[in-house]
Amino acid sequence: MADIINEAQRCLKCKKPMCKEGCPVKTEIPQIMEMFLAGKMDEAGEILFENNPLSALCSLICPHEKNCMGHCVLNRKGTPIKFYEVEQYVSGFYLDKARLSKPKQNGFRLAIIGAGPAGLTLAIIMAKKGYDVTIIDSKDKIGGVLRYGIPEFRLPKSLLDKLLKRLYELGIKFRPNTLIGPTITIDDMFSDGYDAIFIGTGVWNPNRLRIPGESLGNVHFAIDYLKNPDSYDNLGDHVVIIGAGNVAMDAARTILRKTIARVDVIFFRGREEVTALKEELELAEVDGVHMNYYLNTIKIEDDGIIVEKVIKKENEDGTVEYTNDSANPFKINASSVIIAIGQGPLANIVKNSKQIDTNKKGLIEANAKGQTTREGVFAAGDVVSGAKTVVDAVAATKLVAEEIDNYVRQKHNM
Ligand SMILES: Cc1cc2nc3c(=O)[nH]c(=O)nc-3n(C[C@H](O)[C@H](O)[C@H](O)COP(=O)(O)OP(=O)(O)OC[C@H]3O[C@@H](n4cnc5c(N)ncnc54)[C@H](O)[C@@H]3O)c2cc1C
Repeated sequence: MADIINEAQRCLKCKKPMCKEGCPVKTEIPQIMEMFLAGKMDEAGEILFENNPLSALCSLICPHEKNCMGHCVLNRKGTPIKFYEVEQYVSGFYLDKARLSKPKQNGFRLAIIGAGPAGLTLAIIMAKKGYDVTIIDSKDKIGGVLRYGIPEFRLPKSLLDKLLKRLYELGIKFRPNTLIGPTITIDDMFSDGYDAIFIGTGVWNPNRLRIPGESLGNVHFAIDYLKNPDSYDNLGDHVVIIGAGNVAMDAARTILRKTIARVDVIFFRGREEVTALKEELELAEVDGVHMNYYLNTIKIEDDGIIVEKVIKKENEDGTVEYTNDSANPFKINASSVIIAIGQGPLANIVKNSKQIDTNKKGLIEANAKGQTTREGVFAAGDVVSGAKTVVDAVAATKLVAEEIDNYVRQKHNM
């Protein structure tokens, strides 16, 4: 606690706060710091929640070094302020203590498909405006990636359980275990009287390597593994993970916590090209993950992977070329293989609905305010932008909330 107070006292409370500029939801950082030091916890918590209903979660898992902390002026000559520690304290307090109540209803009905960061943010904003909000998700609990992707050691799921209580207080309905698309369609939902429908279904379709062996019993996709690591109780004593993004690091670090296996990450480029956040990579190494660079996987077998070395050549003109040493493939033994090379969207909804256009990657086409090509249907979050971050999903969804409200009011001539 003393350290948090120290951080708040160290903050220069800049008139033009760069930290706020670096935050996708423009959190009022200096103001919160002052309120925290003045003991105005309830007010500070409310301001944070109103601006970002997922503040308590973002404070734990935002890429701070790119956002608020990365923009702090103290980076120039000292140690940047860790605002997120103060935010975590204030928002955690608020989520525990706040008791919300159902606002006066405006008579409009909104359906939200997907209980991830995008869907949850929109639900809270619209419920506060008086909308009758129903969230529908294919999973059994709210959270999306927050619950079924990011491991418990980085994000305690109890925060989501507390958030659910606040949703219920606002009158938001949650329908679990319901996949929209094959059985219930967008048309059905409009027929049932929703004024607008929001799609915030994220990206859950793992990218394939397109090499032999991907269907073998010892091969898994990281995004599937992270949904429920406890189902994978026979990974053996040596797991190799192909890919070096944040999802690969989360899978690697979870396996190290849940098994006694050695974990090797195999990446076809060098350390400087690792897509995981620097902090995630360094923590993975501290945890005991073995990083292996410049190795291209060409085949998966029952007891390991076949790889070839990648040779990097830096030309005089500054360009870089990579060639694979395909004449000398070799084997790395492994009991299990996990593929972590990104995700794309599933097509359950767009395949079963008319007029919702997608791009080449299958992502939903929507303008900056979330309007899709079908009237009354809006979308935001990863299903529009591709894999990004929680706070980016919140920021995008806030714009959509305004647009949905305008659309519904115009529809009802209000
Ligand atoms: C392993 C992992 C770790 C990550 N770590 C971080 C991190 O540390 N920090 C960070 O900021 N970001 C992180 N991210 C990215 C971040 O989690 C996403 O950008 C964010 O969750 C996107 O929110 P969303 O609401 O768009 O989608 P999601 O969180 O994907 O939620 C979509 C929801 O829609 C539901 N759904 C999908 N299809 C249907 C359907 N047809 N019918 C009903 N429901 C459906 C899904 O079940 C899911 O609950 C991570 C991502 C992964 C995969």
